[in-house]
Amino acid sequence: MIIIMRTGAPQEQIDGVVKALEERGYGIHLSRGVEKTIIGAIGALDEEKQLVAQQIETLPGVERVVPILKPYKLASKEFQPEPTVIRVGDIAIGGDRVVVMAGPCSVESEEQVLATARAVRAAGASILRGGAFKPSTSPYGFRGLEREGLELLRLAAQETGLRVITEVMDPRDVELVGEYADILQIGTRSMSNFMLLSEVGQARKPVMLKRGLSATIEEWLQAAEYIMLGGNHEVMLCERGIRTFETYTRNTVDINAVPAVKELSHLPVIVDPSHGTGRASLVGAVARAAVAAGADGLMIEVHPQPERALKDGHQSLRPDEFERLMKELAAVARAVARSL
Ligand code: PEP
Ligand code: MN
Repeated sequence: MIIIMRTGAPQEQIDGVVKALEERGYGIHLSRGVEKTIIGAIGALDEEKQLVAQQIETLPGVERVVPILKPYKLASKEFQPEPTVIRVGDIAIGGDRVVVMAGPCSVESEEQVLATARAVRAAGASILRGGAFKPSTSPYGFRGLEREGLELLRLAAQETGLRVITEVMDPRDVELVGEYADILQIGTRSMSNFMLLSEVGQARKPVMLKRGLSATIEEWLQAAEYIMLGGNHEVMLCERGIRTFETYTRNTVDINAVPAVKELSHLPVIVDPSHGTGRASLVGAVARAAVAAGADGLMIEVHPQPERALKDGHQSLRPDEFERLMKELAAVARAVARSL
């Protein structure tokens, strides 16, 4: 179960609750957020939980006790029935508006990132994506411009007013990437890097957690829980396609995951049809399907010259294709009572 302490509850009240739980045989996980302290209590028999929850609720400083049986708790709908809305400047992720993050797979040069940023901004995107630290399945693949890439993303953001999302792969780089990014991206290959998840849990930046290549929805939500346990509750989930027996597409977008996660969790859901399909010709249809299914946002790869891209050119839209798609998405959003 989870014990939410009142805002500003003093240490002695927190200690009092911890002691009461330990006496009843619970293991404790303390998570100090910016405003609230949350005590995770693990153990004891299910049938005792209700009684213990009632007793703990009477202790000074306790706001609420939530008995939760799922393997993820902070991320669950039981913990928070209303949807989480994450604010990034004046952008709200998880609200009525569907948020579009667009940009190149990798930051390649100042010219490339600026041209892309201007184009996606003009078409209506609000967040610029671009990899500076690139996970590469092949060790011979392009691995990104690293710090220089981060600087170019910031430059493009200043020029255009876009916000920036970029991937962090190494727990040691969280601080550095956080200096340049508005949202930290955890890539598919890192979904089970629990050290990294804990580290971004300490960060004061929203996190977008991509679903692991073969992760179940429950495993994905447990990964989100790792981040939230660190005190960072600004987590959004990104469905980017899972591995199936199909090889025509790079991955298979699990469209089921969008309403399923909405049923289980209060966290916003983003869909990445670029990595999800691996084919530029399919990106539009799957993006439209994602908005229709209730996604709170999209992540789309756009490159001014896909034929010259260092990575993922085959799945990147040209700026004019992206512009057309944005118009179609606006119509789909309207049809499901959202806006773009
Ligand atoms: C990316 O978005 O840059 C990326 C590498 O995606 P994924 O982690 O989904 O493969
Ligand atoms: Mn890519």
